Amino acid sequence: MSDRREKHDPAEQDILHEVNAHVHEAARRFEGTGPERDRWEFTCECGAPDCRVPVSLTLAEYEALGAAGRPVLAPGHSKVDAL
Ligand SMILES: [Zn+2]
Repeated sequence: MSDRREKHDPAEQDILHEVNAHVHEAARRFEGTGPERDRWEFTCECGAPDCRVPVSLTLAEYEALGAAGRPVLAPGHSKVDAL
């Protein structure tokens, strides 16, 4: 019940990151060891409190982002810097 929204919410980013991790895990189980050509619906991790933009990525694309330490972002979104 706050009348002022924080510009960024690290907890929110953590939650979204976890949601995406679960999507990834489920997708992995579904695809098994087969070729990764399907797109899965991840969620933008920019950290804006009201952002729930779906981002379609293949598992390979998602894993590449993770390996680079980069968040999942919708086109035109940039991560709110929590640091
Ligand atoms: Zn976003």
